[in-house]
Amino acid sequence: MMKDLSHLHLSTLAIHAGESPDPHTKASSPNLVMSTTFVADPDSTFSVEGLEEDAPFFYTRWGNPTVAQLEQKLAALEGVEDCITFASGMAAITALMLHTLSQGDHILISDVTYAAAAELTLDLLPRMGISVTRVNMSDPEKVREAISPQTKLIYAETPCNPLIRLTDIQAISSIAKRAGILLAVDSTFATPVATQPIELGADLVIHSLTKYIGGHGDAVGGALLGKSNLLAQIRQKIAIRTGGIISPFNAWLIMRGMATLPIRMMAHEKAAKTVADFLENHPKVTRVIYPGLPSHPQYDLAKRQMKNFSGMISFQVKNGPEMARQLAERLQVIHYAVSLGHHRSLIFYLPTRDMLQNSFHLNAEQAKAYREYAGEGIFRLSVGIEDGGDLCGDLERALE
Ligand SMILES: *Cc1c(COP(=O)(O)O)cnc(C)c1O
Repeated sequence: MMKDLSHLHLSTLAIHAGESPDPHTKASSPNLVMSTTFVADPDSTFSVEGLEEDAPFFYTRWGNPTVAQLEQKLAALEGVEDCITFASGMAAITALMLHTLSQGDHILISDVTYAAAAELTLDLLPRMGISVTRVNMSDPEKVREAISPQTKLIYAETPCNPLIRLTDIQAISSIAKRAGILLAVDSTFATPVATQPIELGADLVIHSLTKYIGGHGDAVGGALLGKSNLLAQIRQKIAIRTGGIISPFNAWLIMRGMATLPIRMMAHEKAAKTVADFLENHPKVTRVIYPGLPSHPQYDLAKRQMKNFSGMISFQVKNGPEMARQLAERLQVIHYAVSLGHHRSLIFYLPTRDMLQNSFHLNAEQAKAYREYAGEGIFRLSVGIEDGGDLCGDLERALE
């Protein structure tokens, strides 16, 4: 088992947590264990029912040494007891929902979330007899009003994709606690370097490891974190049986990426601040949203809840679709591509009409609130860790 590292800082934990030297080879860096099966005790049982947390490795879908090392590192960084990793962020979200919701239950979900999470809750959950209410989670009063006796889960995302609108985790968690409802927070945009939702009262945290945590754009993965008694249930009843587990190779790559997460986040924030200031002063840019700018509508909450403003910026111009074509053609450093949180800067245009029609299906009041942040469309810019001045130069030439 791991030594007690709880007194150490994030930058130390990112390197050392989960990485004790291999007891047999004394290898200092983590081994990659690709074996799908492990030589078993003839008395071990063939069902996952009654699986003990400290059972020996048996079959890689149940658990794997490399994957377990990544899970320990993630739990240490988030300051929680346990972590389950998955093949993708969406697999983590699916496992969370399958475990916490049954027929007749109700979920309260932020009206703007990662598009696939919105689409999943609009389509699959109602088919399973689970009712869904979407609320603007930047307004805690709306959350309180929407709770019913059937509500089992409140699901928030902060900062939310793609608006970069924030949710006050402490405020929502006190509402959830009073009502005895679980609160899960997708913290992909923030990372544990900026915000530790469990410390602020959330029960569960979700990460797409594909983004900042892996950080290099070469491995898809997801994670669910929380208290060990709840996670042991999710691991046994859902994760192992539905099988959306992470490949040990991806776990190894993501663990390697994580060693530099704290210093990468500092670099992302520094470059993003430079780019946000540049865009805010550019004549063709009509609106910039970045939590580190005093012009962000929730700047006070951002300062209170985020120890690092991360690298996600959204901005608007007059003719978005035309500018999207121009940027895709002219940008030399920044890639016109989806995804985010990589070392490399990425930009993508999200027209409001498409987002509302295909992903979010908002009511009139929610659509109005969406447009307050997004106008007719936004460029979502994931600022990488390149030189901030070089990124401004690239944008300057391309926006001409
Ligand atoms: C990308 C993303 C996800 C989904 O993660 P995948 O690894 O692509 O499945 C979930 N939430 C947020 C906020 C994301 O950005």
